[in-house]
Amino acid sequence: MKVLIIGAGTGGLALAQLLKQAGVCVAVYERDLQPNTDSGGYRVGISPAGNRALRACIPGELYDLYVATCARSPRYFNMLTEQLCEVLSFDIDDAGPNALDGERNVIRKTLRRVLLRGLEDDVLFGKALQGYSSNADGSVTACFQDGSRVTGDVLVGADGTGSAVRRQRLPEARLEDTGIISIGGKIPMTAETKALLSDKMFEGMSLIMAPMGFGAIIHSLEFADSRNDPGVAARWPDFVEALDEDSIGWGIWGARQNCPRDPATLSGEQLRELALELARDWHPHLRTLIRMTAPSTIRDIKVRTSVPLTPWASSNVTLLGDAIHTMTPGRGAGANTALRDAALLGHMLVEADQGRKPLVEAIHAYEVEMLRYSTGDLVHRPLVGRLQLAVTRGVMRIVNAMPAVKRRAFRQMMRVRGEN
Ligand SMILES: Cc1cc2nc3c(=O)[nH]c(=O)nc-3n(C[C@H](O)[C@H](O)[C@H](O)COP(=O)(O)OP(=O)(O)OC[C@H]3O[C@@H](n4cnc5c(N)ncnc54)[C@H](O)[C@@H]3O)c2cc1C
Repeated sequence: MKVLIIGAGTGGLALAQLLKQAGVCVAVYERDLQPNTDSGGYRVGISPAGNRALRACIPGELYDLYVATCARSPRYFNMLTEQLCEVLSFDIDDAGPNALDGERNVIRKTLRRVLLRGLEDDVLFGKALQGYSSNADGSVTACFQDGSRVTGDVLVGADGTGSAVRRQRLPEARLEDTGIISIGGKIPMTAETKALLSDKMFEGMSLIMAPMGFGAIIHSLEFADSRNDPGVAARWPDFVEALDEDSIGWGIWGARQNCPRDPATLSGEQLRELALELARDWHPHLRTLIRMTAPSTIRDIKVRTSVPLTPWASSNVTLLGDAIHTMTPGRGAGANTALRDAALLGHMLVEADQGRKPLVEAIHAYEVEMLRYSTGDLVHRPLVGRLQLAVTRGVMRIVNAMPAVKRRAFRQMMRVRGEN
């Protein structure tokens, strides 16, 4: 069986790794011109379930490299007001003995480099899919913008939110605008920028809850553990420079109707001005963090979500990850779900390859299960009034003052994140 995968992102590469290990013939076609095209310097949080799915896809040696290239795990999950007053702060250790092992932060482009390892001969860059055709003998032919074609037994669209495979396979599939605007940036961690964070913010991830439905997230990423481990440099010398990127990442969001300008058309500098305008009454440290961020790192982040689909008749053309279920980045679930898809679809395709299941039946089993766990994004309704915010903050402060209740609430949160 020959599997053609379109897109060398998180899900496509994890699937290719699994299939290659199982001896299935696989080829990946990626639109980017080269492997190290900056496909996102932003951090992706991988949950315990995401880690398990990744581990199911890649060899142990590669998983060790993934762990070594993750930032130190966050110790706290803080919820703060825009004046940086604590509303609720969870100690991640409280989620159970394996919590630190489970929740990881990785830079997206580093994860891509890790997942490309061992697939050097199986991934072709500069191959943008235009469309495909299904052939009378049951095979499928992928057609690329450069005029080339390739034929295989299965075509997997792992080509992200704007998927060309989805456009043709499921033309009824739609993306919905959530009504949220979001701007993100990243700044190197230096003594000066670190001083803008409290100890708990430095050691954790922090969610800012501001009036009018505005909010922000702050992540501090530090790779000192791996950087100071001589074993890591000896084993993976080509990844040493990726461990030198300590940084603070921030994202700010709000309802479009409350935003003075549409960020979509703005330059990095203009986005920084807009972020400062949105945060005009916020704590000076938050404003300084935004002000010090280089415009070249500041991006307008599209916050879209897939409209849930009704099941379709399966064939040898299928989809995974953002291509079939784009999720709002705020959920921190898109990459985790793409990994879960890769592990499940990979398992099903191996069953088919080994003759234990007919191919389309195996793909159908994947699609039914994937649809079950991947739907349910709540579309943002920007109705957070001052009263609602005050009540929410009040309840959180009460929980914060009751350690036993807080521990229970956090375990429940982590359980849900781990499983779904
Ligand atoms: C700021 C931000 C923060 C995020 N944080 C998190 C988080 O904390 N946790 C989490 O789980 N998720 C997070 N996500 C979401 C996560 O990044 C995505 O859900 C995930 O990358 C999806 O993986 P994928 O493999 O489906 O698609 P992608 O990783 O987007 O890969 C798709 C690939 O297909 C290629 N491609 C596209 N079109 C074509 C074509 N026509 N032909 C060939 N190749 C093509 C693209 O170049 C790309 O390489 C975040 C997203 C953003 C924007």
